[in-house]
Amino acid sequence: MAPILIIDAGHGGVDPGGGNNAQFTEKNMNLNISLYQYRRFQELNIPVAITRTTDVTLTADQRTKMVRESGARYCISNHINSGGGRGSEVIYSIYGSPQLPNLIQAELKAAGMPNRRIFTRTLPNNPKADYYFMHRQTGSVETVIVEYGFADNAQDASTLASNWEALAEAVIRAFCIYAKLNYRPPAAPPSPTTPPTTTPAPENPGNGGGNNVPEWKLEGINWLYEQGFLSDEVWRQRVDQPLPLWAEALILKRMYEKITGGQ
Ligand SMILES: [Zn+2]
Repeated sequence: MAPILIIDAGHGGVDPGGGNNAQFTEKNMNLNISLYQYRRFQELNIPVAITRTTDVTLTADQRTKMVRESGARYCISNHINSGGGRGSEVIYSIYGSPQLPNLIQAELKAAGMPNRRIFTRTLPNNPKADYYFMHRQTGSVETVIVEYGFADNAQDASTLASNWEALAEAVIRAFCIYAKLNYRPPAAPPSPTTPPTTTPAPENPGNGGGNNVPEWKLEGINWLYEQGFLSDEVWRQRVDQPLPLWAEALILKRMYEKITGGQ
């Protein structure tokens, strides 16, 4: 079956891209995002293709030929920005529409990456030709270039390094809305709502568990529930049990997001 969509992992091989920093190179971040999306679209039973699945060099001609000949109607080209700025940019063809770019930015913002702009750009000497080869040479395929954030902006870079999967997922959601395809969120990651079954129940309820938990022990724990940092009632019965690292990390992450407003 012909793919509906082809995902393009920008750069690769000898071309590291411009959006590099101490934490990641653009070509690898693009590949991570693209492979994640490729797998997720398959999970959603949406026919999908991809320009590269490894760290190989592709010329502009090779890349765009692949897109043109894929049979796909849409192409999402994944990139990381650089050059002084903050937030995401989505670039569409002068012959395209801002509808998908707007949806993508709404979802990226909801996932924690602020919007910078959406735009089109023409060649300086030809107002009828797109500036970027991914638009100019991909024929009738509706191609958008997604710049997820700026590698040289500290806030964008840390959001990308720690949260690129959520940003990749945001673009999947936007695309499904745009192309009127059924979207299902990924299987939920572990969270404090599902404590590990391996956590032993306290053997002596009177010693920090069960129904005899003293009020002074519960003060801070109750607050964690009120604030939404803890959600499963089980922890209330395990007040002297250590939290596993992943649960502590989630509480810290939720707290940080609450304080910073997700910025
Ligand atoms: Zn790039």
